[in-house]
Amino acid sequence: MTDRKDELAANLAKVEDRIAAACAAAGRPREEVTLIVVTKTYPASDVRVLSELGVRHVAENRDQDAAPKAAECSDLPLVWHFVGQLQTNKVRSVVGYADLVQSVDRSRLVTALSKEAVRQEREVGCLIQVALDAGESQRGERGGVAPGGIEELADLVAKSPGLRLAGLMTVAPLTGEYAGRQQAAFGRLMDLSTDLRRAHPAANMVSAGMSADLEEAVAAGATHVRVGTAVLGVRPRLG
Ligand SMILES: *Cc1c(COP(=O)(O)O)cnc(C)c1O
Repeated sequence: MTDRKDELAANLAKVEDRIAAACAAAGRPREEVTLIVVTKTYPASDVRVLSELGVRHVAENRDQDAAPKAAECSDLPLVWHFVGQLQTNKVRSVVGYADLVQSVDRSRLVTALSKEAVRQEREVGCLIQVALDAGESQRGERGGVAPGGIEELADLVAKSPGLRLAGLMTVAPLTGEYAGRQQAAFGRLMDLSTDLRRAHPAANMVSAGMSADLEEAVAAGATHVRVGTAVLGVRPRLG
Protein backbone atom coordinates (compact mmCIF):
# COMPACT_ATOMS: atom_id res chain seq x y z
CA MET A 1 0.00 0.00 0.00
CA THR A 2 1.07 3.58 -0.55
CA ASP A 3 1.81 5.76 2.48
CA ARG A 4 -1.36 7.74 1.94
CA LYS A 5 -3.44 4.58 1.73
CA ASP A 6 -1.90 3.33 4.99
CA GLU A 7 -2.61 6.64 6.64
CA LEU A 8 -6.23 6.79 5.48
CA ALA A 9 -6.78 3.14 6.42
CA ALA A 10 -5.46 3.79 9.94
CA ASN A 11 -7.59 6.92 10.33
CA LEU A 12 -10.68 5.14 9.05
CA ALA A 13 -10.10 2.30 11.50
CA LYS A 14 -9.93 4.80 14.38
CA VAL A 15 -13.14 6.51 13.28
CA GLU A 16 -14.81 3.14 12.86
CA ASP A 17 -13.80 2.23 16.43
CA ARG A 18 -15.26 5.51 17.69
CA ILE A 19 -18.57 4.96 15.89
CA ALA A 20 -18.76 1.34 17.08
CA ALA A 21 -18.03 2.37 20.68
CA ALA A 22 -20.60 5.17 20.53
CA CYS A 23 -23.21 2.76 19.15
CA ALA A 24 -22.43 0.22 21.86
CA ALA A 25 -22.67 2.89 24.57
CA ALA A 26 -26.04 3.99 23.19
CA GLY A 27 -27.33 0.43 22.81
CA ARG A 28 -27.70 0.94 19.06
CA PRO A 29 -26.76 -1.55 16.34
CA ARG A 30 -23.71 -0.37 14.40
CA GLU A 31 -25.67 -0.63 11.13
CA GLU A 32 -27.92 2.24 12.19
CA VAL A 33 -25.13 4.76 11.63
CA THR A 34 -23.66 5.54 8.21
CA LEU A 35 -20.26 7.19 7.90
CA ILE A 36 -20.02 9.97 5.33
CA VAL A 37 -16.43 11.05 4.70
CA VAL A 38 -16.18 14.78 3.97
CA THR A 39 -13.50 15.00 1.28
CA LYS A 40 -13.62 18.78 0.71
CA THR A 41 -10.24 20.35 -0.16
CA TYR A 42 -8.68 16.89 -0.65
CA PRO A 43 -7.87 15.55 -4.13
CA ALA A 44 -9.74 13.01 -6.23
CA SER A 45 -6.87 10.58 -5.61
CA ASP A 46 -7.87 10.49 -1.92
CA VAL A 47 -11.49 9.83 -2.87
CA ARG A 48 -10.29 6.91 -5.00
CA VAL A 49 -8.24 5.48 -2.12
CA LEU A 50 -11.19 5.86 0.26
CA SER A 51 -13.38 3.98 -2.19
CA GLU A 52 -10.79 1.18 -2.33
CA LEU A 53 -10.88 1.09 1.46
CA GLY A 54 -14.64 0.52 1.43
CA VAL A 55 -16.02 4.04 1.93
CA ARG A 56 -19.35 4.40 0.11
CA HIS A 57 -20.51 7.91 1.09
CA VAL A 58 -18.55 11.10 0.46
CA ALA A 59 -19.48 14.75 0.96
CA GLU A 60 -18.37 18.05 -0.51
CA ASN A 61 -19.28 21.63 0.33
CA ARG A 62 -18.12 23.70 -2.66
CA ASP A 63 -19.22 23.08 -6.20
CA GLN A 64 -16.02 24.46 -7.79
CA ASP A 65 -14.02 21.86 -5.87
CA ALA A 66 -16.57 19.06 -6.03
CA ALA A 67 -17.62 19.06 -9.69
CA PRO A 68 -14.24 18.11 -11.23
CA LYS A 69 -13.58 15.64 -8.41
CA ALA A 70 -16.91 13.89 -8.91
CA ALA A 71 -16.24 13.74 -12.65
CA GLU A 72 -12.83 12.13 -12.07
CA CYS A 73 -14.42 9.60 -9.72
CA SER A 74 -17.56 8.85 -11.72
CA ASP A 75 -16.49 5.22 -12.17
CA LEU A 76 -16.55 4.59 -8.41
CA PRO A 77 -19.55 3.16 -6.53
CA LEU A 78 -19.99 6.26 -4.36
CA VAL A 79 -22.95 8.20 -3.05
CA TRP A 80 -22.21 11.95 -3.25
CA HIS A 81 -23.61 14.30 -0.63
CA PHE A 82 -23.54 18.08 -1.02
CA VAL A 83 -23.32 19.71 2.42
CA GLY A 84 -22.38 23.35 1.75
CA GLN A 85 -24.36 26.52 1.35
CA LEU A 86 -25.75 26.35 -2.15
CA GLN A 87 -26.34 29.26 -4.51
CA THR A 88 -29.08 28.72 -7.07
CA ASN A 89 -26.64 29.46 -9.92
CA LYS A 90 -24.67 26.34 -8.88
CA VAL A 91 -27.70 24.05 -8.80
CA ARG A 92 -27.33 22.88 -12.39
CA SER A 93 -23.79 21.67 -11.75
CA VAL A 94 -24.54 20.15 -8.32
CA VAL A 95 -27.53 18.16 -9.56
CA GLY A 96 -25.19 16.63 -12.14
CA TYR A 97 -23.32 14.64 -9.46
CA ALA A 98 -24.99 14.96 -6.06
CA ASP A 99 -27.23 12.12 -4.97
CA LEU A 100 -28.25 14.07 -1.89
CA VAL A 101 -28.23 17.74 -0.97
CA GLN A 102 -28.10 18.12 2.81
CA SER A 103 -28.21 21.91 2.89
CA VAL A 104 -31.73 22.68 1.67
CA ASP A 105 -32.81 25.79 3.56
CA ARG A 106 -35.08 27.97 1.42
CA SER A 107 -37.94 27.58 -1.02
CA ARG A 108 -36.11 29.22 -3.94
CA LEU A 109 -33.46 26.53 -3.67
CA VAL A 110 -36.09 23.79 -3.63
CA THR A 111 -37.68 25.18 -6.78
CA ALA A 112 -34.31 25.38 -8.55
CA LEU A 113 -33.29 21.86 -7.48
CA SER A 114 -36.60 20.41 -8.63
CA LYS A 115 -36.47 22.08 -12.02
CA GLU A 116 -32.91 20.88 -12.62
CA ALA A 117 -33.55 17.33 -11.32
CA VAL A 118 -36.46 17.00 -13.75
CA ARG A 119 -34.41 18.43 -16.62
CA GLN A 120 -31.48 16.05 -15.96
CA GLU A 121 -33.83 13.14 -15.18
CA ARG A 122 -32.21 12.67 -11.78
CA GLU A 123 -33.69 12.11 -8.35
CA VAL A 124 -32.10 14.24 -5.64
CA GLY A 125 -32.51 13.33 -1.99
CA CYS A 126 -33.02 16.46 0.11
CA LEU A 127 -32.27 17.06 3.76
CA ILE A 128 -33.54 20.21 5.37
CA GLN A 129 -30.64 21.95 7.10
CA VAL A 130 -31.77 23.17 10.50
CA ALA A 131 -30.14 26.20 12.12
CA LEU A 132 -30.47 25.76 15.88
CA ASP A 133 -28.88 29.16 16.46
CA ALA A 134 -31.35 31.10 14.31
CA GLY A 135 -34.33 33.01 15.62
CA GLU A 136 -37.70 31.38 15.00
CA SER A 137 -38.19 32.53 11.42
CA GLN A 138 -34.64 33.46 10.41
CA ARG A 139 -31.82 31.64 8.73
CA GLY A 140 -28.56 30.58 10.39
CA GLU A 141 -25.16 32.22 9.99
CA ARG A 142 -23.87 29.14 8.21
CA GLY A 143 -27.10 28.39 6.38
CA GLY A 144 -30.05 26.44 7.60
CA VAL A 145 -33.65 27.25 8.38
CA ALA A 146 -34.97 27.92 11.88
CA PRO A 147 -37.00 25.03 13.37
CA GLY A 148 -40.23 26.97 12.72
CA GLY A 149 -39.55 26.87 8.97
CA ILE A 150 -39.00 23.11 8.59
CA GLU A 151 -42.58 22.05 8.00
CA GLU A 152 -43.30 24.42 5.14
CA LEU A 153 -40.02 23.60 3.41
CA ALA A 154 -40.49 19.85 3.90
CA ASP A 155 -43.98 19.96 2.41
CA LEU A 156 -42.59 21.86 -0.58
CA VAL A 157 -39.78 19.31 -1.14
CA ALA A 158 -42.22 16.42 -0.78
CA LYS A 159 -44.45 17.70 -3.57
CA SER A 160 -41.64 18.81 -5.89
CA PRO A 161 -40.95 16.54 -8.87
CA GLY A 162 -37.45 15.11 -9.02
CA LEU A 163 -36.87 15.55 -5.30
CA ARG A 164 -37.17 13.08 -2.42
CA LEU A 165 -37.50 14.35 1.13
CA ALA A 166 -34.82 12.39 3.01
CA GLY A 167 -34.59 13.99 6.48
CA LEU A 168 -32.83 16.65 8.54
CA MET A 169 -29.25 17.87 8.90
CA THR A 170 -27.58 20.21 11.36
CA VAL A 171 -24.19 21.55 12.34
CA ALA A 172 -23.72 22.05 16.09
CA PRO A 173 -24.11 25.79 16.69
CA LEU A 174 -21.17 27.89 17.90
CA THR A 175 -23.47 30.60 19.26
CA GLY A 176 -26.84 30.81 20.99
CA GLU A 177 -28.40 28.55 23.60
CA TYR A 178 -26.80 25.38 22.17
CA ALA A 179 -23.22 26.68 21.96
CA GLY A 180 -20.94 24.06 23.50
CA ARG A 181 -23.92 21.76 24.16
CA GLN A 182 -23.69 19.36 21.23
CA GLN A 183 -25.71 16.58 22.76
CA ALA A 184 -28.58 18.93 23.63
CA ALA A 185 -28.44 20.37 20.10
CA PHE A 186 -28.53 16.92 18.51
CA GLY A 187 -31.32 15.87 20.90
CA ARG A 188 -33.34 18.83 19.68
CA LEU A 189 -32.69 17.78 16.08
CA MET A 190 -34.01 14.29 16.94
CA ASP A 191 -37.20 15.80 18.36
CA LEU A 192 -37.64 17.84 15.19
CA SER A 193 -37.06 14.65 13.17
CA THR A 194 -39.80 12.88 15.17
CA ASP A 195 -42.19 15.72 14.32
CA LEU A 196 -41.19 15.62 10.66
CA ARG A 197 -41.73 11.88 10.39
CA ARG A 198 -45.34 12.19 11.55
CA ALA A 199 -46.15 13.83 8.23
CA HIS A 200 -43.30 12.28 6.19
CA PRO A 201 -42.50 8.81 7.58
CA ALA A 202 -39.85 8.04 4.96
CA ALA A 203 -37.81 11.16 5.76
CA ASN A 204 -35.82 9.31 8.39
CA MET A 205 -32.25 10.48 7.83
CA VAL A 206 -30.74 12.46 10.71
CA SER A 207 -27.35 13.87 9.69
CA ALA A 208 -25.40 15.25 12.64
CA GLY A 209 -21.95 15.02 14.14
CA MET A 210 -18.51 15.72 12.74
CA SER A 211 -14.96 14.74 13.75
CA ALA A 212 -15.19 16.49 17.13
CA ASP A 213 -18.69 15.48 18.17
CA LEU A 214 -19.69 12.26 16.41
CA GLU A 215 -20.13 10.47 19.78
CA GLU A 216 -22.72 13.03 20.91
CA ALA A 217 -24.55 12.67 17.59
CA VAL A 218 -24.65 8.87 17.79
CA ALA A 219 -25.83 9.08 21.41
CA ALA A 220 -28.66 11.40 20.36
CA GLY A 221 -29.76 9.06 17.56
CA ALA A 222 -28.12 10.35 14.37
CA THR A 223 -28.29 8.02 11.37
CA HIS A 224 -25.44 9.73 9.48
CA VAL A 225 -22.22 11.30 10.73
CA ARG A 226 -20.10 13.57 8.49
CA VAL A 227 -16.42 13.17 9.23
CA GLY A 228 -13.62 15.05 7.49
CA THR A 229 -10.56 15.90 9.57
CA ALA A 230 -10.46 12.66 11.56
CA VAL A 231 -10.15 10.65 8.34
CA LEU A 232 -8.21 12.91 5.96
CA GLY A 233 -6.23 15.13 8.32
CA VAL A 234 -6.39 18.82 9.16
CA ARG A 235 -7.47 20.72 6.06
CA PRO A 236 -4.75 22.82 4.37
CA ARG A 237 -7.15 25.76 4.00
CA LEU A 238 -10.55 26.79 5.29
CA GLY A 239 -13.33 24.75 3.79
C1 LIG B 1 -16.41 20.23 6.80
C2 LIG B 1 -17.74 19.73 7.22
C3 LIG B 1 -17.86 18.56 8.00
C4 LIG B 1 -16.66 17.77 8.52
O1 LIG B 1 -16.01 18.48 9.52
P1 LIG B 1 -14.74 17.85 10.29
O2 LIG B 1 -14.68 18.66 11.53
O3 LIG B 1 -13.58 18.03 9.39
O4 LIG B 1 -15.06 16.43 10.55
C5 LIG B 1 -19.13 18.14 8.32
N1 LIG B 1 -20.23 18.82 7.91
C6 LIG B 1 -20.16 19.93 7.15
C7 LIG B 1 -21.41 20.62 6.75
C8 LIG B 1 -18.91 20.43 6.81
O5 LIG B 1 -18.84 21.54 6.05
